[in-house]
Amino acid sequence: MPLPSAALPAGATTWLEIDQAAIGHNVRLLRGLTGPQTRLLAVIKADAYGHGARATARSVIAAGATALGVASLPEALELRGAGITAPILVLSFVPPAALPAALEQGLTLTLFDAAQARACDQQARKSGRRLKAHVKLDSGMGRMGTLVADAPALQEQLAQMPWLQLEGCYTHFALADEDIDWTREQLRRFLAAVHAMRRRGARFPTLHSANSAATLTLPESHLGLVRPGIALYGLSPSDGVPLPSGFRPALTWKTQIVQLRDLPAGHSVGYGRTWTASSATRMAVLPVGYEHGFRRAPHEPRSVLLRGQIAPVIGRISMEKTAIDVTAIPQAQVGDEVVLLGRQGKACISAEMLAARFGSSNYEVVTGLSARMPRLQLSRSET
Ligand SMILES: *Cc1c(COP(=O)(O)O)cnc(C)c1O
Repeated sequence: MPLPSAALPAGATTWLEIDQAAIGHNVRLLRGLTGPQTRLLAVIKADAYGHGARATARSVIAAGATALGVASLPEALELRGAGITAPILVLSFVPPAALPAALEQGLTLTLFDAAQARACDQQARKSGRRLKAHVKLDSGMGRMGTLVADAPALQEQLAQMPWLQLEGCYTHFALADEDIDWTREQLRRFLAAVHAMRRRGARFPTLHSANSAATLTLPESHLGLVRPGIALYGLSPSDGVPLPSGFRPALTWKTQIVQLRDLPAGHSVGYGRTWTASSATRMAVLPVGYEHGFRRAPHEPRSVLLRGQIAPVIGRISMEKTAIDVTAIPQAQVGDEVVLLGRQGKACISAEMLAARFGSSNYEVVTGLSARMPRLQLSRSET
């Protein structure tokens, strides 16, 4: 294993290390939870939840995922530009003016209603290529899609659109991480609507509904394909739906000590003078702050890891600086590696621990890590 610093841009002082072997391992565990006839579409929107979409795409495909899911056309084009040829389903909206690029790159789009489907059909006819698409039904999520009650009318319209190649139909769960009864009800509504569409001639080769939480808790929702996101990265959908043992978090956020100082009693640290040394204090300065996603509100993170120990954060976090108290870690040196999120020795700061400070979720913590931080993609686990 080369030293991480060798692969980092010159001068980088805070970065993410992504354990791609862990992501591959998590894909194999998820595949083991579904029957062999259920395929896996890996959701890698938002730059693979902050983990880096291109490297993650390669790992999940190598581990048995058969398709990728992204939110937007630019995300899909980035993957195609990187030479990734696997099927890509764009889960959210693609502006009509951009349809030629989607056709050109062989992407699969989501159809939300008849008007948008018609625009796609017309553009496909102009381009002389059929457009691969999945129909999205709203069984209770209340975002994009067509109400299940309107599905039969939608099918009558779709039957008039020969340039659409309808490969699938799907729905998305609103509460799979909290309420299995409501999720079952959504699934029932979805399957009833698909049945009504099939009676009117629809032929959907693939049905799908399950995000990570439903993949873990509701086998009847697996259908032909599951669409996990958060679990790929070794993170739990919620406190109520923890990952089974064996899943491995893939992301570690690191920085290093750039200055060590001895402060006398009575000296304060940072903006607002919110912390004052009550006795002589050894302080270390870290070149990281809220610009990177080490947020202040509503609560600052309490600690970081240094030499396998917990070091408390002191004073207010600045845009790109944070101070820690290392009085209890006298071996600390300038250049020492510090972990803000992840494991160091036996100590660990999880995405869930940071989420508790930020009043948010592990999803938001990892996707909120600044895109400006370099991602070091490791193909073998550091153990
Ligand atoms: C983001 C997303 C997923 C993945 O959800 P997780 O909770 O991360 O597993 C699945 N399907 C759709 C439509 C999504 O937008």
